[in-house]
Amino acid sequence: MKITNIKTTPLLCKFKQDYHWADGVTLCSPVVLIEVETDEGIVGIAESGVGPTIEPMLSVLHDAIPHFIGRSVFDGNRLIWEYFQSGFKARGVGSQYRFFSRTMSGIELALWDAIGKGLNQPVCNILGGAVRDKVGYFGFVQGDTAEELAEHAGQLAKEGYPVLYVKVGRDDRLDVDIVAAVRKVAPNVRLRLDANEAWDTLRAVRMMEKLKAFDIEIMEQPVPGIGGSDALLRLRGVGMPLSADQSVYLPEEVFEMCRSHAVDAIVLGLHETCGALRWRKAAAVAEAANIRINIHGIFETGITTCIANQVGATVPNLDDANQIMWQLLEEDLVESPDLRPVNGFLPVLKKPGYGFELDLDAVGRAAEVYCKQKR
Ligand SMILES: [Mg+2]
Repeated sequence: MKITNIKTTPLLCKFKQDYHWADGVTLCSPVVLIEVETDEGIVGIAESGVGPTIEPMLSVLHDAIPHFIGRSVFDGNRLIWEYFQSGFKARGVGSQYRFFSRTMSGIELALWDAIGKGLNQPVCNILGGAVRDKVGYFGFVQGDTAEELAEHAGQLAKEGYPVLYVKVGRDDRLDVDIVAAVRKVAPNVRLRLDANEAWDTLRAVRMMEKLKAFDIEIMEQPVPGIGGSDALLRLRGVGMPLSADQSVYLPEEVFEMCRSHAVDAIVLGLHETCGALRWRKAAAVAEAANIRINIHGIFETGITTCIANQVGATVPNLDDANQIMWQLLEEDLVESPDLRPVNGFLPVLKKPGYGFELDLDAVGRAAEVYCKQKR
């Protein structure tokens, strides 16, 4: 099956409500829809998660796409890294793995969808088979004030989510008020916090000591990721389990993080690793250290939910409360299947490819929002 064209469609998918976190307020998910067209009429679909903005990613994608035309869908592993060599490394920006990975992840992931559809198999089967029947997700608590967040937390707990996840790192007093309010309405859930790199060492120690009173299962990336494992190791004395998110993108970084004994879990998404193959390699590194891996979410749509569901299902050390993001959108791009978790779980998707159908009207509207923003 040969690649005849790769279509890129920039989209802005609006959120239902403002998304409050340590880096401010975010209003939408910007993504690039990737459609790999083939000579057999099969189209592989995925998305690249945007960072920092859509335009430089489109520029790189358009530079890369000619390298793929006329080649087999089974050559993705070779073609992506050939382009990394000639399009990135050779141009003196070889260290920018993170930008490269996010940009090219959509192509890597769309090729798997084309392969799955071509072989009439779900992608998880092609990757060796699922090791579980369902994938777990946390209830992602949304709102601005402690009252709003507590109300949503109560609702998610009633819906049966065993794990809730709350953003902190916004303001010390507000953070404590939020966590106290959430814990009050959801006394029996496993509660996880994410400070998104907001604190220096002293502030992280002070905040974690205060937040310990609320029985926190994991504190995610309290200090800047650039500090690597050393910055996280300094917090070990607090006695609160830690996870690394922004510290780790590459399997090599996962190896170093696991070797350091700085964290108890790794948070990593498929866009960060440039797709499924390297995500599974990173998961295998963590598995060798007996450390679980949690599917990270960036600003994305249900397309990524479907992809991560199948790829995540193939690794034994997958966390039981992964990140899910499509529900933040005013309207998702996926028409089917139903991606609402039941008691915090979705079954592993088993239709050919990633098993989703796009809502083409929703795609059209998100493309229009992007075009309006450009004008
Ligand atoms: Mg995080």
